[in-house]
Amino acid sequence: MTYADALQEKHRFGRRIALVGMLLFFASVASELATDKPINFLAGIVGFLIAGAGVLYLQTRLKCQVCNENLGQLFEPGKTCYCPYCGQDLDESISDSG
Ligand SMILES: [Zn+2]
Repeated sequence: MTYADALQEKHRFGRRIALVGMLLFFASVASELATDKPINFLAGIVGFLIAGAGVLYLQTRLKCQVCNENLGQLFEPGKTCYCPYCGQDLDESISDSG
């Protein structure tokens, strides 16, 4: 496993959390418009919070495993090759550097 693989797994996880939250939110809005039940409003709030948690995860949990700097906004899967802070090659295997 490379550093990029580990970051991509975290990136994928955060994106899925955000996507599930957004889907719940938009499903809630759609059903709110269709049925006007209060439970739909609560599901929308929960969906919004889950989506926010996913975005927050993406912004705060993607860290370089060498220098521990936050790569949240800088990491693009398949495009980011080096850590912009310490220059670590992200395609290098994690076990090689130890
Ligand atoms: Zn680094």
